[in-house]
Amino acid sequence: MHEIKNPKKPLVFYYGIALLAIFLVNVLAMPYIARRQIKEVDYGTFMTMTENKEIGQVQVQDNQIMFTDKDGKAVYKTGLMNDPDLVQRLHDSGAKFTSEIVEEMSPVMSFFVSWILPMLIFIGIGQFMSKQMIKKAGGKNSMMFGMGKSNAKVYVKSAEGIKFDDVAGEDEAKENLAEIVDYLHDPNKYKEIGASMPKGILLVGPPGTGKTMLAKAVAGEANVPFFSMSGSEFVEMFVGMGASKVRDLFKQAKEKAPCIVFIDEIDAIGKKRDGQLGGNDEREQTLNQLLTEMDGFEGNTGVIILAATNRPESLDPALTRPGRFDRRVPVELPDLKGREAILKVHAKKIKVSDDVDFNKVARMASGASGAELANIINEAALRAVRDKRKFATQADLEESIEVVIAGYQKKNAILTNKEKLVVSYHEIGHALVAAKQTNSAPVQKITIIPRTSGALGYTMQVEEGNHYLMTKEEIENKIATYTGGRAAEEIIFGSVTTGASNDIEQATKLARAMITRYGMSDDFDMMALETVNNQYLGGDASLVCSAETQTEIDRQVKELIKRQHEKAAKILLDNRTKLDELAKFLYEKETITGEEFMQILNA
Ligand code: ADP
Ligand code: ZN
Repeated sequence: MHEIKNPKKPLVFYYGIALLAIFLVNVLAMPYIARRQIKEVDYGTFMTMTENKEIGQVQVQDNQIMFTDKDGKAVYKTGLMNDPDLVQRLHDSGAKFTSEIVEEMSPVMSFFVSWILPMLIFIGIGQFMSKQMIKKAGGKNSMMFGMGKSNAKVYVKSAEGIKFDDVAGEDEAKENLAEIVDYLHDPNKYKEIGASMPKGILLVGPPGTGKTMLAKAVAGEANVPFFSMSGSEFVEMFVGMGASKVRDLFKQAKEKAPCIVFIDEIDAIGKKRDGQLGGNDEREQTLNQLLTEMDGFEGNTGVIILAATNRPESLDPALTRPGRFDRRVPVELPDLKGREAILKVHAKKIKVSDDVDFNKVARMASGASGAELANIINEAALRAVRDKRKFATQADLEESIEVVIAGYQKKNAILTNKEKLVVSYHEIGHALVAAKQTNSAPVQKITIIPRTSGALGYTMQVEEGNHYLMTKEEIENKIATYTGGRAAEEIIFGSVTTGASNDIEQATKLARAMITRYGMSDDFDMMALETVNNQYLGGDASLVCSAETQTEIDRQVKELIKRQHEKAAKILLDNRTKLDELAKFLYEKETITGEEFMQILNA
């Protein structure tokens, strides 16, 4: 893709003004500023002029003579010679002696007048103009000149333009957007029947799922220009700039229609106006400008606005009203099939050995986004290069999953033997509890090599196909699995460590959700106890219930976790020999695969 330069006034324009100012001062104003130009003549000319009575005023100085002609217009100077009766002759010629013939300007002065002064004038004009501009943009202060222009990048199609085929998986999103492409190809078909396209389409989903790619692909498929801008860019500027950037962006877009305007992170400008005192003026101005622009053009101008967000619930309702972003296209994390497809798309860019099992890699990378999968492929290629191999192998890919998901291996972090033993038991505790509960996913691999992410142990679970629904028992088992690490520490060492902090967090989240969100407690039945504020980023939720109910929820969460913790401890006690055997294996080898685990467990 290549970028077209911003068609606004270039810097050259301002340099031009500066040069013009200098030129004007020198040519037009200089003679008046310096009043007269002084012409140097030789002594002979001076004597001739004296004889011909052509001298008006004369001033004899230390080493030169300044004089004017009869009508005082031209000023001359000449060197002073040893000429004893000069004064007499001048007097005879009728010249007037004076001390008022204008002095020649000093070089410093002349430099000032011809260069510095014009520059000052220019800077003055510039400042005045920029102040005007800021006033127009509705802002208060800005120190820079010409900042109101949008930095919207214009992409035009080229050979490497992104197409739908480059976006793996996400079939539903593509289907949804295909209609837009069709419209951009043949708007008349839609106009004839009176249908108008939605002006704005919201791409909603977690980070790294290909929203930007999809937007580019729409432009690529439809063969139209692509303008992109990030919501956070709008608001991080000086006050008042966001609004004028929006204005500018839409001006450019309308000139280039049909085209795609893509606004990434729209939540940065489109957050709900919370009515707080002293809200963010800048953001509101920008948002208002965006709404004005969207309302200002008809549905059929051929400008289609795509916006991406991972916080759809935080958007101002004004943005999602009919005629604005009234269509929503979910772009979810890829499922198993999608992950495999994404891995294959990116693997085409590197050399991989023929026996790579992408399905297995995809299974291991459950929960990874498209961006993470792309990163896994790249890490595998880097690893192959480091090991001086020509192809990336299955082992490279599997190692990369851990690298990308769990951080780089901390080769030189040193665990004491006691710590290693505790971590081994802790991790086997999780795995054993998981394996003994029929419904829990089996373990793929456990390692106790510390990661930069801070995790000391790492358990990779394999997802068997896709899971959309979870039963109450499955969630309970998961909670039991989370408590299994701590339970093992208690049984073996009789004391506990800080290693379970993440387990505690996860177990509590699940237990709380069972009660407040999934209606899986006995006495609250199907009563909603909370609202989800953010479905994608961590899913923070707020309770909607009385204080007494909250106390009761807390009590039930505690009970639930405690029950599962006891269950986990019982499983481990019942399998104490296996626990020791497995932990010993992990302690010695630092890594245990799912197969090795099952072999020991079933031996
Ligand atoms: P988002 O805009 O949703 O945050 P991007 O579109 O910027 O995500 O994706 C970031 C990168 O991740 C892309 O450049 C691409 O390499 C990779 N990627 C994400 N999703 C996909 C996908 N569905 N197919 C292929 N690559 C993908
Ligand atoms: Zn743990």
